[in-house]
Amino acid sequence: MSYSLVWFKRDLRWQDHAALAAAAQQGAVRCIYVVEPEIWAQPDAALQHFEFVHESLQALDQQLRLLGGCIEIHTGAMPEVLNAIWAQAPFAGLYSHEETGNGASYARDLRVAAWCRVQGVLWHEFAQFGVVRRLKSRNQWQAAWEKHMAAPVQNPANLQFWPGRPSAPLAMTAPSHLQHNPPLRQRGGRPLALATLHSFLHARSLGYRGGISSPLSAPDACSRLSAYLAWGCISMREVVQKTRAQLAQLPEQATRHRGGLSAFISRLYWHCHFIQKLEDEPAIEWHNMHCGYDDLRELAFNQQHFEALKEARTGWPMVDASVTMLRETGWLNFRMRAMLVSVAAYPLWLHWRPVGEWLATQFLDYEPGIHWSQLQMQSGTTGINTTRVYNPVKQAQDHDPHGKFVRRWLPAMRGVSDSWLFEPWLMPAPAYSSLPQPVVDLASATREAKQRLHALRKTPEVKAGKAAVVEKHASRTLPAARKKAKAASAASSQQLGFDFSSG
Ligand SMILES: Cc1cc2nc3c(=O)[nH]c(=O)nc-3n(C[C@H](O)[C@H](O)[C@H](O)COP(=O)(O)OP(=O)(O)OC[C@H]3O[C@@H](n4cnc5c(N)ncnc54)[C@H](O)[C@@H]3O)c2cc1C
Repeated sequence: MSYSLVWFKRDLRWQDHAALAAAAQQGAVRCIYVVEPEIWAQPDAALQHFEFVHESLQALDQQLRLLGGCIEIHTGAMPEVLNAIWAQAPFAGLYSHEETGNGASYARDLRVAAWCRVQGVLWHEFAQFGVVRRLKSRNQWQAAWEKHMAAPVQNPANLQFWPGRPSAPLAMTAPSHLQHNPPLRQRGGRPLALATLHSFLHARSLGYRGGISSPLSAPDACSRLSAYLAWGCISMREVVQKTRAQLAQLPEQATRHRGGLSAFISRLYWHCHFIQKLEDEPAIEWHNMHCGYDDLRELAFNQQHFEALKEARTGWPMVDASVTMLRETGWLNFRMRAMLVSVAAYPLWLHWRPVGEWLATQFLDYEPGIHWSQLQMQSGTTGINTTRVYNPVKQAQDHDPHGKFVRRWLPAMRGVSDSWLFEPWLMPAPAYSSLPQPVVDLASATREAKQRLHALRKTPEVKAGKAAVVEKHASRTLPAARKKAKAASAASSQQLGFDFSSG
């Protein structure tokens, strides 16, 4: 019996799955997920990602079995798996979503394309976000995003499955080298994604505005959809459409709720805006977006500083508490993520690549396009964003004024009084001796770092290179909207400048 092969990757749902819908129009489908050792061997992979994928696949398999099918799990390099499936029963076409992944998934895709050419198989790929492959100009991007989000959600009514499916229950084993599975992380699967979206749209988004900056309120006030979007348990289009539908139902006077949902939709847009940068220039996973910043930090990596950051012993309580929360939960709000990278890039003067590899394993929602663009933006190597330096003492005073967050995640700080809590190094020596010493002097190290960056920024070479980066990657936000957002951002934070400051 002829069938189409549907390859699931970071799109672990059957609803609004463009590849599955297109394959189903041709007749019978066979659904596969492939555990690719090479992909899981990359330094950005973690056990928490694998287990989340496993949970999501279990949920997907359960749903497909109710429809008369299943998802098959294969292990191996993609061309080898395709060879084996082909030898068992040749298929009419390969269907999948486009992936803006890391260098390894990009190279794998080239091998899959070569395999398809040799076999004479057509590989049909579909956009899964508002990200445009082979985008000609950024000027058309916003319209393309709107078009993608407005298209009808596609749920194939009568799926017909290839009959040779195995009856064995879904089973997959994590590669033994994988590490890090936070005990308090979110669990995978579409039912949980839908429940998270529902509770956000109908209740939690009331606290979105004003609630997303503090690490105390953010876990509840933020949508918490990032991991479900990153692994595709729910589609971006579904989230945008359901949010717009909820907005349309709310009365005009529900200003707080409406404001929260509007701000949330902006972030959904940023999600794709950032992924588009990696899609357009895959090299930003490794190289500075603006080459004028090459050699700024490359030659001066201080491993001890890096170890102190990873082990939550920088001596700056807000930083160490954030690292601890991240380690235990797999999630942090935007502001605390930005603060961690800022501390790494400025006072600790660490290059963004190793810091980004470590954080990729810590974030359950690791999405390469957002991640590497943000790492570079917060480290000042894009050349187009105003320098932002987050002072961890000020962040603590603003967003954890009573020290609840610091005391929750750093038991050693529970006995420290409010007056010393955010700057314990100012305490009298005996009381302070059991706490980690700051790795560097915060004020002078930050000042020196900013001076180095600003000196480079003024050079003719760096100035000259800026226009090309703007043309390729910058947002085309209208000047009036940009001005308004800048004023709002400046009023609520001590950040310098506007561009995607999530709160
Ligand atoms: C250094 C750094 C690395 C980051 N790495 C990732 C990553 O790997 N994966 C990831 O999903 N987000 C990343 N972010 C962006 C942001 O911190 C998270 O999306 C957010 O904290 C996730 O929580 P949420 O879903 O509750 O967010 P909400 O505030 O509810 O936002 C809704 C959705 O919008 C998108 N979004 C929100 N903020 C941003 C932003 N600033 N840029 C782009 N998209 C955004 C996400 O998809 C998110 O799920 C990073 C931010 C920084 C500073």
